[in-house]
Amino acid sequence: MESTTEAVTTPPLANVPAARATVWPDVPIVLRVSSEDDVALADAISSDRLAWVEVPMALAERFARSALAVDLIMDDLNDAPSLYRISSLYGERLPRLTLPAREGIARAGAIALAVQFAVRIVPLQPSAAEVAELQAVLERYLHDTNARTPIEFFHTWLVAAVHGGRPSLWEVLERDPDLYPRIDADENFPPQEAGFVERHVAELREKGAECTRCRFFDGCGGYFKWPDPAYDCADVRGLLTSLDEAAARLRQDIQEAAQA
Ligand code: SF4
Repeated sequence: MESTTEAVTTPPLANVPAARATVWPDVPIVLRVSSEDDVALADAISSDRLAWVEVPMALAERFARSALAVDLIMDDLNDAPSLYRISSLYGERLPRLTLPAREGIARAGAIALAVQFAVRIVPLQPSAAEVAELQAVLERYLHDTNARTPIEFFHTWLVAAVHGGRPSLWEVLERDPDLYPRIDADENFPPQEAGFVERHVAELREKGAECTRCRFFDGCGGYFKWPDPAYDCADVRGLLTSLDEAAARLRQDIQEAAQA
């Protein structure tokens, strides 16, 4: 869950519902909590086995005193103002916050940065308006001097552009089912079959899709061409171009600092 290029290459790491954790092979897991009963189950599992706990907003307060790493899932961006209260409950051990890239992401991202949550924003074929909001989050992330915590996927994209070794967005956003299998998934994003990303990329190449002519293909991995391969990436490419331009400025700053 840590926001470094190295951290996203350490899985496979299964996301397991709390009710199945005790029968799961004795390896580190992400524990998925979705009810009060699950909170008690989480308490009963050795913390050595838990990479982190995935917690919905409705149960955020139940882990405020826990020593476990928490990934807080906000499905409804209207909940964003409650982050002020939640941050005061958690103190210095703030959870990582996972947000959907939907309408309201600009405001939610701004609040998350203001109270210094590390953030993972998960886009799913965003509309032009949603990409514009993502661009606003990126601008704040890059230029607001109070923005001190990483926002994925921006953070890893910039780190990789400066230091090399860019993982695909499927990895960075923990959506590659070979690396982050989601057991008993209650959703179909992405498909959970083994080899899904490899097949998806191969199909895009075979069909000569827009991706094959896109300079972002290595880092993106055709992420935005799922589920609809006809999705128009024009706006998304604008966002990725902004990221590359920011990375170029960063590289120049580093070079100038080294020569000073
Ligand atoms: S930005 Fe769009 S066209 Fe470019 S690689 Fe990603 S999914 Fe393909």
